[in-house]
Amino acid sequence: MTAVKFKKQREQLEVEHKRLTDELAQLQTSASSSEERREGSPFFKREEAATETLELEKRLTLENRIRQEMAAVEHALEKIEKGTYGLCDNCGQPISPERLEALPQASLCIKCKALLTKNGKITPLPK
Ligand SMILES: [Zn+2]
Repeated sequence: MTAVKFKKQREQLEVEHKRLTDELAQLQTSASSSEERREGSPFFKREEAATETLELEKRLTLENRIRQEMAAVEHALEKIEKGTYGLCDNCGQPISPERLEALPQASLCIKCKALLTKNGKITPLPK
């Protein structure tokens, strides 16, 4: 019943997962091609090395962000499987349908999310 109820979200999550997988693959493809360029250049300068380092850092940041998003999407899909989708990971209260509509991978209700944003962490409620 739950799976049917969240059919739309599940589809959205699967599309999102595919998009993130592609994005990650693209990122890794561009990474290896820039390494080839570097090896192929006999006049590789120090400034270029600095730029490369910056590029690498930017890429790693982006890669981490994609991986985090993927983890969130996978977590949400797992919750659909388990029948806990739509419930807050922290307090167990239902997440508002509007929020799930806008962000299908949301795993926290707006209240807990606000707490997390404010404090940088949340204290899980005793189960
Ligand atoms: Zn909550």
